[in-house]
Amino acid sequence: MSNTILELKNIHFAYHNMEGETPALNNISFMMNEGEFVAIVGPSGCGKSTLLSIISGLLMPESGSVLIKGKELKNSTTNIGYMLQHDQLFEWRTIYHNVILGLEIQHMLSTKTVTKAHELLETYGLKQFESAKPSELSGGMRQRAALVRTLVLEPEILLLDEPFSALDYQTRLLVGDDIGQIIKKEKKSALLVTHDLSEAISLADRIIILTERPAMIKKIVPIQFDLTQDTPLNRRNTEHFKDYFNLIWKELGNDE
Ligand code: ADP
Repeated sequence: MSNTILELKNIHFAYHNMEGETPALNNISFMMNEGEFVAIVGPSGCGKSTLLSIISGLLMPESGSVLIKGKELKNSTTNIGYMLQHDQLFEWRTIYHNVILGLEIQHMLSTKTVTKAHELLETYGLKQFESAKPSELSGGMRQRAALVRTLVLEPEILLLDEPFSALDYQTRLLVGDDIGQIIKKEKKSALLVTHDLSEAISLADRIIILTERPAMIKKIVPIQFDLTQDTPLNRRNTEHFKDYFNLIWKELGNDE
């Protein structure tokens, strides 16, 4: 049986400034199961980042609620991790010291957590770069380091806001597949915001399609590939991949 880790109920949100009101989210409701990988796609500026900010508690919805494991966000002790477009690694710190930064800030440095940091760095091929500065690493390795920094805090939900979009096309494919596999291996529940349909189809268990701003849910598409080895690359090589692409493309195109 799958357990619900995240539930959004009737979320409404608008930005207010001197020029007036910009409605961004209109009645957003969905659920996410533990261990599920959900992607959110929608036209640029429709409200995707706003939605992640609400789930992370950075913004308060005007109405509606965010429940994490059945509890209101503000009462929840569930750890939420955030990964952004830029890896936000500090050049003046080594990779190891970047990875333990979150632990330091949250006063969680201990033999146990430091051992975990070293283990993750080793598992994901970064051991030899522990003493390196971020600029000595490739874009893909930097994103791995950023993911390890997030994973070491043991988040139960990962929010990914266009984490690969700063990379060039080829690197983005490789890194997206790589990071996606790590997240699955670590059995994390992940919510990925992306404008890249192929990325969403290659990684997600379900895709939520949003309308133009103010975003409403247009359609939720379950993604299922009948593969012995369900990897992003294998998905991309199936006929079925194109069908999903065309289906979702059409849904998005209908807004134009
Ligand atoms: P997306 O992530 O889908 O590109 P965003 O969630 O970043 O979209 O933004 C949704 C809409 O809200 C956009 O039209 C944007 O211009 C507007 N917006 C974002 N942040 C602010 C803000 N601080 N004040 C006013 N409007 C904003």
